Amino acid sequence: MLAAMSEQTETRKQRAARRAGEFPPAPEALAVPVLDSHTHLDITVSEAGVPGGPADDPVAAAIAVAAGVGVDRLVQVGVDVESSRWGADVAERYGAVLATVALHPNEAPRLPDLDEALRQIEALAGRDRVRGIGETGMDFFRTGDEGRAAQEESFRAHIAIAKRYGKALVIHDRDAHADVLRVLDDEGAPDTVVLHCFSGDADFARECVRRGYLLSFAGTVTFGSATALRAAAAVTPPAQLLVETDAPYLTPMPHRGRPNASYLIPLTVRFLAETTGADLDELCAAISATGERAFGPW
Ligand SMILES: [Zn+2]
Ligand SMILES: [Zn+2]
Repeated sequence: MLAAMSEQTETRKQRAARRAGEFPPAPEALAVPVLDSHTHLDITVSEAGVPGGPADDPVAAAIAVAAGVGVDRLVQVGVDVESSRWGADVAERYGAVLATVALHPNEAPRLPDLDEALRQIEALAGRDRVRGIGETGMDFFRTGDEGRAAQEESFRAHIAIAKRYGKALVIHDRDAHADVLRVLDDEGAPDTVVLHCFSGDADFARECVRRGYLLSFAGTVTFGSATALRAAAAVTPPAQLLVETDAPYLTPMPHRGRPNASYLIPLTVRFLAETTGADLDELCAAISATGERAFGPW
């Protein structure tokens, strides 16, 4: 009897664990199409699988599932030379995909030859379907003091590449708001700056808005504890607001902890519309226009 009960308990636990690893169900479709301004298709497919189930062409499948709920364009973001090259190739094959290329701020300090890696990123920067340089920036959460000089050097080099090629700069900023602004001021910011997975409060949001930067909100804005982030979204004008998954991470509520993909963007957009009091259709149209201004046309 006891054995039977514990067996039952274990089965329930196993079932819960399996569920945690599965993609959530598709949300209700949006009436006005919108884009995912920051996603990692390569990491999603290798770590979480294909949204909608196994497919011969995982990229096409992920695009189709997203398009089915009104997310008809996405930006594939590079984090190292290999993923940047992959993204640039994918963007040439699929009309729904544009790419950005870069060395992630947590990758840069680990590279044996940063200059050579930067040369390879620059070689990709000029391709037509590559519309941004990122994700680059500063991360004081995962990179300690020993890596910060290389991280800043890499960030500065990416800013220079973005300006040389006239592409958007996509910034990863984790616990480094003041230093990101310091380096941007020092180098001179490119025309288009996107703060991906915006993580500041209302004051930092106001400062970024004043500078003309674009603030991209991820599923984190839906998390229960994210009061300051919601206040930041509320002071961001629709013309400077983007939405993203950063998939496979940061899955919006109510599916936090499960794998993320572009087809879950409607959860975050609906949440943002409710939080800011915006009309959902108008917000989607504004986000699309902002995305096309930053990266487009697709
Ligand atoms: Zn990031
Ligand atoms: Zn990312």
